[in-house]
Amino acid sequence: MDKLLKDGAKQLGINLTDLQIEQLLEYKNLLLEWNKKLNLTAITKEEEIITKHFLDSLSVGYAINLDQYKNLIDVGTGAGFPGLVLKIVYAHLNITLVDSLNKRILFLDTIIEKLGLKNIITIHGRAEDLAQKSEYREKFDICCPRAVSNLSTLSEYCLPFVHNNGYFIALKGQKLDDELKTATNAIKILGGEVENIVDIPIPFTDIVHKIAVIKKIKTTNKKYPRKAGEPSKAPL
Ligand code: SAM
Repeated sequence: MDKLLKDGAKQLGINLTDLQIEQLLEYKNLLLEWNKKLNLTAITKEEEIITKHFLDSLSVGYAINLDQYKNLIDVGTGAGFPGLVLKIVYAHLNITLVDSLNKRILFLDTIIEKLGLKNIITIHGRAEDLAQKSEYREKFDICCPRAVSNLSTLSEYCLPFVHNNGYFIALKGQKLDDELKTATNAIKILGGEVENIVDIPIPFTDIVHKIAVIKKIKTTNKKYPRKAGEPSKAPL
């Protein structure tokens, strides 16, 4: 299992240390254990947790050089993808993990404690409410969600957290091109601009994911995000 992780990360341009591998494998074991009682992931094969969760999460580091940034928020992190994986591998990052489901937050807190991770916090709440609070609004270099909603809704959740010149990095599948067409208006209204689309073959799978690298070029109007539920009911 450690070879799969090490070689896969290498294909993404990342050299994992022995400690990082040990921490990721402990995370995998705890995920499988907690998953018997809590609905955390539909993926239960060990190899697939490594490829489809861990290596897929690390693809953020392939799309953007994370060494240059400090504050990262993962909105709708679920069982910690990609934010918790990124914390293990990019120790210098201050990470905020957000999810609206408290049971998942309890799992994340346990992993953080067991692995002794520092400068990482969890918040139980909805993106729409948190992004209206001054302590979180436009405070992050990067917001990188995975598998939370369509790109238009996701832009309304995420761009308000990012300061000007920061990035909203959306991890998506092959549908990204279609989603981009319908989200163009939302991205513009919220102060973003698509800078790049990166194709990422996930090592040891036949999956090619796409990442949208969206730069924040203008402060987001205070009326966004709209109140909880609206961005998904009526995307911009
Ligand atoms: N990012 C993880 C992954 O890729 O495995 C989890 C994806 S899961 C499909 C979506 C997660 O987003 C859930 O854990 C859900 O509770 C959370 N979520 C959905 N809408 C949210 C919102 N408006 N604010 C915060 N969390 C939200």
